[in-house]
Amino acid sequence: MLHLPKKSLINSMEKKEPMRRCLGCGESFPKKQLVRIVLTPEGEVKMDLSGRLNGRGAYICRNTECLDNAIKRKLVNKALKAPVSDELAAELKKELM
Ligand SMILES: [Zn+2]
Repeated sequence: MLHLPKKSLINSMEKKEPMRRCLGCGESFPKKQLVRIVLTPEGEVKMDLSGRLNGRGAYICRNTECLDNAIKRKLVNKALKAPVSDELAAELKKELM
């Protein structure tokens, strides 16, 4: 007998996941599929893999093109009103690859 995870599949489809917009492509995705970049109350811009850090957040989907786009056009800077360091950009890129 096959044990297909039917029930959990249906449950996960029914559950309303919070949607967030990617800065790069402008599409909405479930929050979990995006990488959050946060401006902490201390004024630091960080990658937030837990999604739980305090502060203003911006989101990028798991697509290096979107990241490149967002960095190149300074979309993250605009969204967070803070500069993104080259280090963070490199860190993000590594995470998305
Ligand atoms: Zn995107």
